[in-house]
Amino acid sequence: MTRVVIAGLGDSGLLTAIQLARSRAARDLELVGISSKPMLVSGQELGLRLARPDDWRRDYLVDFDRYRRLDGLRVVHGSLTGLDLAARTVTVTRPDHTSYDEPYDVLVISTGVSNGFWRRAGLESAAEVEAGLRAAHERLAAASSIAVVGGGAAAVSSAVNLAAAFPDTRVDLWFPGERALPAHHGKVWADVSARLEALGVGLHPGHRAVVPGGSALDEITTGPVAWSTGQAPAEADAVLWAIGRVRPHTDWLPAELLDDDGFVRAGRDLRVPGHDGVFAIGDVAATDPLRSSARNRADKVLAANILATLSGRPLRTFRTTTRRWGSVTGVQPDGVDIYFPSGRKLRFPGWTARVVMQDLIARRVIYGGIRPEGQSLR
Ligand SMILES: Cc1cc2nc3c(=O)[nH]c(=O)nc-3n(C[C@H](O)[C@H](O)[C@H](O)COP(=O)(O)OP(=O)(O)OC[C@H]3O[C@@H](n4cnc5c(N)ncnc54)[C@H](O)[C@@H]3O)c2cc1C
Repeated sequence: MTRVVIAGLGDSGLLTAIQLARSRAARDLELVGISSKPMLVSGQELGLRLARPDDWRRDYLVDFDRYRRLDGLRVVHGSLTGLDLAARTVTVTRPDHTSYDEPYDVLVISTGVSNGFWRRAGLESAAEVEAGLRAAHERLAAASSIAVVGGGAAAVSSAVNLAAAFPDTRVDLWFPGERALPAHHGKVWADVSARLEALGVGLHPGHRAVVPGGSALDEITTGPVAWSTGQAPAEADAVLWAIGRVRPHTDWLPAELLDDDGFVRAGRDLRVPGHDGVFAIGDVAATDPLRSSARNRADKVLAANILATLSGRPLRTFRTTTRRWGSVTGVQPDGVDIYFPSGRKLRFPGWTARVVMQDLIARRVIYGGIRPEGQSLR
């Protein structure tokens, strides 16, 4: 048996495991997933997660044993704390603080990035994950004014969803450029800013925040927010920092695998150069300037390339995009908009958003079937 260890079972690690399990050749593979969370805690749809956590958890907080394709996956709940490239082992520290070395033939590095309080690497129990989810929601629900600082998809999605969920709360979006969503096609901002205005969100271009030090970025703070661009400080009951200051979860890896910014060096074939059998995918992988392998679904190519490597066949590369794309706001009561790199928009209206996009495309096609909550195999 060839042992494939997937280090980090977030969005990309999980999908890679599903793609591998889908293949006939998987019968000769032993799949092991190592995760600091006891279930999938997706990095997607921050706005929905903060504003409507019960809706978010239906699709984005899912026990691993509910994925039908993953019945053969051995999941280890623990933190990766080391990698020995020569011995081909990763060190795992379990919740009881004991450690052991897990050998691999193939290693997939998919430990993602931290991005504020909602994506952390630390070891958590299910109760701790739930408590964090609830605390952030309750903090924002209790605020009479919310300042969302940042201009990327996480900030914009938060402003839209919070304003829709809490119509009596003043929500402002503060961003440094002339427009938000600078990495998306211009048409996307035109569309989304109209929605923000309709929801009464105050839009404040040209505001670059003075970023607080210490751990302030890892929590929801209270105003005022000062601006390095010269404007008067802004007051708010709750300040949501979504300024895209991502930190790769790579402190467990040897420096020789990392680029100058601490991300894992990887080619478009997802291989880590110079290290046979080591691959990287997702937000941690420096495959292209936007590190886009997660949203560009490179998990399919990675699974094919792992199998190709094992049988000596040539590898494929995944298609990158120079613009960000996808849904910005997630599913809304009137439907969901998917924006393509060209700026073109595909709309699933009303109930079709849930039935077609989430139940059919996501659950059945992408994830290969998810058992109902409470009905698991183990
Ligand atoms: C199907 C799909 C659709 C998407 N759609 C969109 C979209 O419409 N719009 C958009 O903007 N983006 C979209 N994205 C991108 C998405 O927002 C992120 O890029 C994605 O969540 C990153 O996945 P990841 O696996 O790299 O990281 P994560 O999902 O954060 O997973 C990393 C995991 O590793 C764990 N971990 C970290 N360190 C350790 C350690 N030391 N030990 C053990 N575990 C550790 C973390 O706790 C986490 O569970 C999409 C992604 C996918 C897969």
